[in-house]
Amino acid sequence: MRYAVISDIHSNLTALDAVLEDARPFDALLCLGDVVGYGPDPNECVARLQSYPLTCIAGNHDLAAIGQLDLSRFNPDARQANYWTRDELRRESRDFLLNLPNTIKLGGFLLAHGSPVNPVWEYLDSLYLAKDNFLRFDFQTAFVGHTHIALAIKWDSEQKEASFPEENACSLSLAKDRLILNPGSVGQPRDDDPRASYAIMDTEKMSWEFRRTHYNIERTQKRMRNCGLPKRLIERLQYGW
Ligand code: ZN
Repeated sequence: MRYAVISDIHSNLTALDAVLEDARPFDALLCLGDVVGYGPDPNECVARLQSYPLTCIAGNHDLAAIGQLDLSRFNPDARQANYWTRDELRRESRDFLLNLPNTIKLGGFLLAHGSPVNPVWEYLDSLYLAKDNFLRFDFQTAFVGHTHIALAIKWDSEQKEASFPEENACSLSLAKDRLILNPGSVGQPRDDDPRASYAIMDTEKMSWEFRRTHYNIERTQKRMRNCGLPKRLIERLQYGW
């Protein structure tokens, strides 16, 4: 199976469609949460995902948008966007989000938005946290999102230490080391590169490839302005922070 692995779409339909086009051909989608929040097209993003064979988990913004998470931990812009999203969600979109699990195990694969240890809130962005997750779970490969930054961390089972793979490898083999992989964010990248971020995983070749693709950022920004979404959330898209 060839999967497009996506995360943190954040209601950015223009970015999502660019990724789906760039990823062709693929058999199915793996989505690591935060389908909604921040952007202008929550219902359209849900509908687009549902039109593909899909495995999807919940992110903190998804849970907040259906009233299952306290918004007090959100910053004011995120909170405002989330209230807007709540009002905007159609019933079928709400039902979709309500049915998303926090984690999914597929053989040796484990999907969690934040991390296996704390699927909703942990930002898995350090070797220290990665080590904790490798030690407490038995996954071969864990897929995470939430940080909006593409990342790979591997586990040395003899030394019992986590490390970053050699160089800035765009492609990785899933067949050897235990790994934690983050495809980055489709709809709001935060690594100073505004292009949409995702990955292609081939389970026959056991390969993983990080990908970036351009999308029409101005179109998303215009739609956000029309929806009255916070200015800071609109501006950040063109810089990728
Ligand atoms: Zn997110």
